[in-house]
Amino acid sequence: MPSGTLKGLKALVTSGPTQEPLDPVRYLTNRSSGKQGHYIAESLAARGAEVTLVSGPVNIPDPAKVTTMHVKTALEMYDQCLDSLKQKMDIAVCAAAVSDWRFREINSQKMKKQAETDSIQITLVKNPDILSTISKHQNQRPTLVIGFAAETEHVISYAVEKQQRKRCDWMLANDVSQDVFGADDNTVYLVKEGEVHAWPTMSKKAVAEKLANDIVEFFRVAK
Ligand code: C5P
Repeated sequence: MPSGTLKGLKALVTSGPTQEPLDPVRYLTNRSSGKQGHYIAESLAARGAEVTLVSGPVNIPDPAKVTTMHVKTALEMYDQCLDSLKQKMDIAVCAAAVSDWRFREINSQKMKKQAETDSIQITLVKNPDILSTISKHQNQRPTLVIGFAAETEHVISYAVEKQQRKRCDWMLANDVSQDVFGADDNTVYLVKEGEVHAWPTMSKKAVAEKLANDIVEFFRVAK
């Protein structure tokens, strides 16, 4: 494994799902396992980068040689990421599956079923987009910002559109029409500088290693 090739560089990685509470016992979340983001954090650290991982609730251990910050909600992840940017990050990889929505009201007591009504209305409000915020940051934008696009159709065209809209540098797109969440293998496309690179299906650990190698190459050329 190449070691020390990212020495002197700082990386921020987000990983896992977020949990958006409705009341003390219920929340909105998704099926992200955090495996891909955690492997990326580990691969960057193995190459000598100083890595801060902001992780939502996952059932996997904190990666070795990485400073891991645990958060639950998208707003907590957003605050933690913005705070971390103050350390002058060189790299940001947003692999977290951040909930697009949170409940407008969080009930302090468990919500009771009402015998007389068959339906209830609950309002969701949009969460801030962490990747976009990092990419568009006025003075603390990392040199290389990488996002993920999990799509069930039109994988490449949606990823290209997302990369342009969120203004990140690279976008890793994967097809989640199959059962990718929690799986060990991943089939991805890397969208960078107007080109789409199709990677063969490989383990999430291998995806992380390949991405880390591309990042090493990016900074080697940029020197
Ligand atoms: O728009 P969509 O959720 O498909 O975009 C996915 C990319 O944006 C991922 O890199 C994800 O980590 C990031 N994202 C984010 N904050 C959000 C929503 C998505 O950082 N609120």
